[in-house]
Amino acid sequence: MGRVKGNGIALLLDLDDCTGCFSCEAACRETHRYAYDEDWMRTVRRDPFVVDGKLRQYHLVAPVLDKCAACYDGEHEPLCVSGCPAGALKIGTFAEMAKEAEGRHCAIYTA
Ligand code: SF4
Ligand code: SF4
Repeated sequence: MGRVKGNGIALLLDLDDCTGCFSCEAACRETHRYAYDEDWMRTVRRDPFVVDGKLRQYHLVAPVLDKCAACYDGEHEPLCVSGCPAGALKIGTFAEMAKEAEGRHCAIYTA
């Protein structure tokens, strides 16, 4: 796959797999060393709720996708993705992520 440009980038979060460990947030911050008052990628702890009979205590990730488009070269996974212990994050084109999300509970973030 070649370099993904600008608006083509998408980041997928599997809501059932994410354990809210904050590794992606830390990985993004360590990769880019941005100031602490900036907020590129954030893991959010929510009140527990039930989806399809499964309890979620969710932690949603809200990345800044223009930063992700610059971070991802289309070939090498960024540390937020490769370092996710649950394998809950994937990055690629929107079409690829939409296919990945079929039949799963996912959030897809697009630029
Ligand atoms: S690293 Fe993975 S499991 Fe941990 S908060 Fe991020 S998406 Fe969820
Ligand atoms: S792709 Fe890069 S900029 Fe985007 S959340 Fe991951 S580490 Fe941060």
